Amino acid sequence: MYKDWESLKKDCSACRRCALADTRTNLVFGVGNEQAEVMFIGEGPGYNEDMQGEPFVGRGGQLLDKYLEHINLDRHKNIYIANMVKCRPPENRDPSEEEQDCCIEWLREQTRLIRPKIMVCLGRISAKRLISKDFKVTVQHGQFIEKGGILFMGTFHPAALLRNPNNKPAALEDFLALQEKIKEVCKHTYEI
Ligand code: SF4
Repeated sequence: MYKDWESLKKDCSACRRCALADTRTNLVFGVGNEQAEVMFIGEGPGYNEDMQGEPFVGRGGQLLDKYLEHINLDRHKNIYIANMVKCRPPENRDPSEEEQDCCIEWLREQTRLIRPKIMVCLGRISAKRLISKDFKVTVQHGQFIEKGGILFMGTFHPAALLRNPNNKPAALEDFLALQEKIKEVCKHTYEI
């Protein structure tokens, strides 16, 4: 169990626990405020994220930033963003169960250091792993579920919204519900 970010980042950046290490350009550790009360968890880096070493920086990331801005959240200010796996699966395929098993301890360590009040799962991969294995985003999005003292909510992955813009209004509702929940349970997110 890590007590500080520096050693966690140092060890994670050298990780070769799974085969994704062989094909990554950059490991994508995470971005944001290390004392955030709200964490967002995606599935894994894509091409742009792999090139730049930061999560959600392509078109999907720009859409995510718009939703965040709409409810006064900012990846460089009052939230933290990470992924289920820290290295890009080739051809942007889903990370396998085995790859997620190898990588999840890094996310657990990040979560232990941050101690968030709310975790938002972006898309089915993180929602199935962190909320429940039969989670259906189209049915259960926007619902808050308490697990281990943390409130979890699943919503659409930004890349899925680019493919199917019909779900954008529902995603906006989820972010507005998140804003209300933050006001209810978080102390400093809107004061940073
Ligand atoms: S995906 Fe995770 S477990 Fe696999 S090499 Fe990258 S950091 Fe390590």
